[in-house]
Amino acid sequence: MKHVCLINTGGTIGMKPTPEGLKPVPGFLAEQMKRMQELSDEQMPQIEIVEFDPILDSANMTPATWNRIADEIAARYAQFDGFVVLHGTDTMAYTASALPFMMPQLNKPVILTGSQLPLGQVRSDGRENLKTAILLAANYWIPEVGLFFGEAMYRGCRATKVSASRLDAFDSPNALPLATAETSIEIFPDRFRKVVESATDRLPVAPIAPQELATFRLFPGMSVEVLRNVLRRPLKGLILESYGVGNGPSHDRDFLEQIRAATSDGIVVVNCTQCRHGCVLQSAYEVGQLLSDAGAVSGRDMTIEAAIAKLMYLFTHESDPNRLRQRVSENLVGELTPP
Ligand code: ASP
Repeated sequence: MKHVCLINTGGTIGMKPTPEGLKPVPGFLAEQMKRMQELSDEQMPQIEIVEFDPILDSANMTPATWNRIADEIAARYAQFDGFVVLHGTDTMAYTASALPFMMPQLNKPVILTGSQLPLGQVRSDGRENLKTAILLAANYWIPEVGLFFGEAMYRGCRATKVSASRLDAFDSPNALPLATAETSIEIFPDRFRKVVESATDRLPVAPIAPQELATFRLFPGMSVEVLRNVLRRPLKGLILESYGVGNGPSHDRDFLEQIRAATSDGIVVVNCTQCRHGCVLQSAYEVGQLLSDAGAVSGRDMTIEAAIAKLMYLFTHESDPNRLRQRVSENLVGELTPP
């Protein structure tokens, strides 16, 4: 029989309605799962639940939570065929983006899922998401951190939350799904990343420490004065959400001067597009080339969530600033499409 470890960090899936709104309540998820007869079907693995204390609304998660999730997995790595991490949807894409950097040698499925409606509600999407995530973790060799929601499993570091209300709340605009679950489950192993090492009994974890980062979205009429304030120390890295393939205003010399001054002061400016789909190509237009000349590094087709997780990871582990800047545009764990 297969064994799956279910790590319940919190989120809507296991929340209880209270007069103050939906709240995570210890033990409530396990109670709801006992009512799901399908979980005792012979196709289902043996499930062991590990519940966080406190269980969290994912809006309260921090890099310390990512470290805790990775440590819980590593501590049980040899005992289980796969792991399902139940997580709130609000910051699930951030956690799913961070974990692949922290566990580069992962060789078993780690599937994040959750729901838009609590398990206890009649129309909950949580039951389907939970069952399919468990089946994926138990029965398939998926050496990836995946995010399963609705009908697709995406690579974690490519996923983004695209809807606050739709039941297919996530998408992976720049990478095809690793699996789909329509009337049947289909896996696409040719899309899996190549595993560096194949140990199945131990999982080295590279922790992530919080870093002084910011995002800044360009818009016509933005204030360069505000940008100047954002670019002040202790800032270490800025994700610039640029237009299209990585463009910014060039008539405003003060804007480019702020970017140049920040990068020469050692602040890493990563150029990511504010478009949901597509890749930064700073050489395509003069206005992008000028950003590159000012020192901005291309984030290629990374999601903002992946760019944040990657910068946090790099600032935690890479001490050489030149090497760090270079690695921003390199493909480390499948988070971006190389040229
Ligand atoms: N606020 C909830 C959370 O992220 C939303 C959800 O789970 O859908 O924990």
